[in-house]
Amino acid sequence: MPELPDLTVVAEAFHAALAGRTVESAEATAPLAVRGTPTELAALTGQRLLRIVRRGKFLRIELERDLIVVNPMLTGRFQLAEPGAKRPSKTALVLGFGQRGGRPRDAAPWTRGADWLPSDGSTPEIRYRDPTQMGKVYLLPAGVERPVPGLMDEEMGPEADDPGLTIEAWRTRIRRHPGELKNLLRNQAFVAGIGNAYSDEILHAARLLPLRKRSSLASEEIDELYWATRTTLARAIDILRRRVPPTFELQVRDFLAVHDKGGQPCPRCGTRITEIKPGGKITSYCRGCQR
Ligand SMILES: [Zn+2]
Repeated sequence: MPELPDLTVVAEAFHAALAGRTVESAEATAPLAVRGTPTELAALTGQRLLRIVRRGKFLRIELERDLIVVNPMLTGRFQLAEPGAKRPSKTALVLGFGQRGGRPRDAAPWTRGADWLPSDGSTPEIRYRDPTQMGKVYLLPAGVERPVPGLMDEEMGPEADDPGLTIEAWRTRIRRHPGELKNLLRNQAFVAGIGNAYSDEILHAARLLPLRKRSSLASEEIDELYWATRTTLARAIDILRRRVPPTFELQVRDFLAVHDKGGQPCPRCGTRITEIKPGGKITSYCRGCQR
C-alpha cells in the first residue's frame, strides 16, 4: 500500500513534470474505479493543472476549477508515460496533458534537471492502474458535494511529517489514544500518512513493540516515538527520491529494516525478526531490541 514516503515522491515528481500543462484528454478505462459522471470527466479537458500534492494516503490533482482525489488503497499505482507507450493492464484512469512553457517555480529541488522529466514540448500522460480495483478516483467538480471516505476533516489529523507537528503538539495529541502503538501510528485521525509498513519501521527505530499500549509509555518513550517517526519518514523519502523514478508504479521497500522481513536478522542486534499476521496484515518486529 502506498504510504506517506511513496506518495510524497509521486506527488513531487508529477508536480514538477506536469504543473502548468492543460488537460487534453481524460479517459476512465475502468469506470467502476471512478466516482463521477461521464460529463464531469469530460469537463476536465481544457483545465490547467495547478498542482499535485499528497494528503495522508491520498493524491490530490488540483486543476484550475475542479479537483481529482485518488485513494490508491492496497494496489493502486501511478505511471508517468508518453502517450504512445504501452498501457499497463488494469489501467483505470488516463489523463493526457499538453505542452507547457516552463517548469513550475515551486517544483521540489531534487527534481531539477532529472532525466525522467518530460520535455516542455512533449505531451505526457498520468495513468492510474489498480489490479484489485479496491482504490478509487473521486472527481470533485467545483460546486459538487461528493464525500470522500477517509478524507473528512475529523478523519484526518496533521501530516506525520508536517513541520507544524511539533513535539509539544505530539505529546498533546497522543494523550487521546491509549491503545496499541501500531494501531496508533496507523490511525489517520492521530497523524496522517502512515500505514502497515512504515508503522513497523518507526516502532523498530523507536525500539518499541507494536502491541505495546500507549498508556504504558514513559514520557521519554513518547518523545522517542516522535523522533523515530520524523527520521524514519524523512530517510525513506530521501531514498525513494533516488530509487523510484522513472518507474513510479514500482513500490520500493527493500531498504526497510524489519517490515516483511520475518526470519531475517535484525540489522541492529542480529536477532531473527518476528512476524505475526493479526487480521491478515503483516506485523514485523525484533524481540531482541524492541521492548
Ligand atoms: Zn533487533
